[in-house]
This record gives sequence, C-alpha cells and structure tokens, in this order.
Amino acid sequence: MNRSATAFLAGLAALLAVSCSNRLGPHRDLLVGVPAQSAPAPAAEGLSVTYLGVNGYLLRSGREAILVDPFFSRVPLRDVLFQAPIAPDPAVLVEARQAGAIPGRIDAFLVTHSHFDHLLDTPALQAELGGRVVTSETGAFLCEAAGTARRDLLPSHPGDVHRFGAATVRVLAARHDLVLGSTPYPGLVTEPLAEAPSRAKDWRLGTPLAFLVEMGGHRVYIESGGVLGSPPSVSDVDLAIVGTAVGEGKGRYAEAVRSLRARYVLPSHQDNFFNPLSSGFHFSALSDFPRIRATHRKLELPGRLVLMDYFHTWTLPGPGK
Ligand SMILES: [Zn+2]
Repeated sequence: MNRSATAFLAGLAALLAVSCSNRLGPHRDLLVGVPAQSAPAPAAEGLSVTYLGVNGYLLRSGREAILVDPFFSRVPLRDVLFQAPIAPDPAVLVEARQAGAIPGRIDAFLVTHSHFDHLLDTPALQAELGGRVVTSETGAFLCEAAGTARRDLLPSHPGDVHRFGAATVRVLAARHDLVLGSTPYPGLVTEPLAEAPSRAKDWRLGTPLAFLVEMGGHRVYIESGGVLGSPPSVSDVDLAIVGTAVGEGKGRYAEAVRSLRARYVLPSHQDNFFNPLSSGFHFSALSDFPRIRATHRKLELPGRLVLMDYFHTWTLPGPGK
C-alpha cells in the first residue's frame, strides 16, 4: 500500500473509532416508516421504500421490486485496512432477507458505483432473486468475475433508459465523494477479469452513476454522494435520496437539494458500515448529520427532511401531502 493510501485509511479508522455511540435517537422526530414485516403490500399506484443500511434500498410498487446498492455482509475495518480477502456472508444475506422482507423475486439491481460497500453482495443476491443488474462497465466486469451471467448484466451509461415492467429507470451522471480529500480505489475495469475480486481495492470505483426511478406514480432520485459543482441533472422529484457519507461536502448537500426540489429529502450512506448489521444504525463520524439538519433548516432548503432506520418501510405519501 502506498503512503497516501495508508494515511487515508489511518485517518478513516480514527474518525470511525469515535462514532460508536451515535444513534438515531436524537433525531427520532424525523423518522418515517414502520418495521418492514408489518408494512402493507405496495399498491400498483403507490411506492414503498425500505432502508437496508448504507446506501441500500428496496423500492416496490405493485409487482415491481428494485434493489439499489444492497450491502449486508459488512466487512470489518481491519480487513479493509490490511487488504484481507473479503466475501459475501451467506448467513447475513438470509438474515437480511427475513428482516428486510425482501421479496423472493427482484426485477432489477441498480448499482451507483462498484466499491465493495455497494457491489459486494449483488452477485450472490442476484443469483438467488433474479433480475438484471444496472451498473457501469466496471461493475459489470466485477459482477461477471463473481459469477453473474453476462445476459443478466446491463452495463449502463448516463442517458440510458431501462424499463422493468411498469417501472422506468433513467441512468444519470454522478461523481463520487471526496473522502478526506481523495477518491478511494479509483479506476476502471475495461476487460474481463481472470479472477474474482477478493480484496477491498479490487472493487474499483468505475464510472459513478445516479438514477431516477419512476414507478407507482412517483419519481425517486437516488445517488450515493457527489461533489460541489456537479448538481444532479433532474429536479421536481417526490423523494431525493442524497448521499451524505461526508456530511455537507463543503456545500454540496445544499446545492444538490436546491436543484432537486424534492417533496422529501432522505440523507443516505451516513451510517458506520464497518459495524455488523445486527448492531443497528450508528452514524459514522464523517457524516455529521446534526450539521446537515441545521443546514437544511437555516438555508430553508426545499423538501421535508426525513430519516429511516434499518429494515423499515415507508409508503410515500401521494402528491400534495
Ligand atoms: Zn464509494
């Protein structure tokens, strides 16, 4: 590992170490949704969102079900720091399916970028649940190396439009956060890999994507983060899921939320994803949610700010509510 990568990871470890007691409690007033098992089945004219942790979501409407960035296996920080082999944990995938009430069949997986905390579990889940995988070229080669059939992959670029039953997915351009000043594991995979990815650095960033999902009469924007000066290219959405893994991103949160003009804004990717899933939601120290909340109020940003706990399902209120 080179010196800048070592310094980056040491800084990350120090920041995450102080984040252990940071729960959702103080922000309970913003929580929406009910435990997934007690949520009503989604109507064809309606949309439900289930939060799966990190930047993972299940979107459902009628018969359609879409998974975004599902990541359940988690990976201990030491395995990332020391580049130990990492792999999906089959027991956790089963647990997550039960707790998250993930249906037995999925129409599509949407992958915002191919770092391990977004892509690691997708090949194993796709093998069990079916569905096509919408991902960058890099993500497609990584999935293929992990066993996904080429016919199930939809390597995608900004501007592409995919239809899955009554759902439409528009692929949008995106940028990755700068984490402590740099982009983790940058680079592309441009040809089939001889071996399956096995260490955190093997899951290269690829070309980051965002998505506009139109289903059940609603428009949902989802990304995993970004940088100031590259606002999302869509607006007037019902729900904006905005990546805040690095907090405000020096004003990027306000810029994104202003341009999205959403009815509801759900900050995302702000939990400590080195914790096991079973320990529940803890904010990561990098995310600084209290500051996001204060910024949203002070700048009178458009949209109602909401939060979701793990494996909770929220039926989006209809327009005008
Ligand atoms: Zn990433």
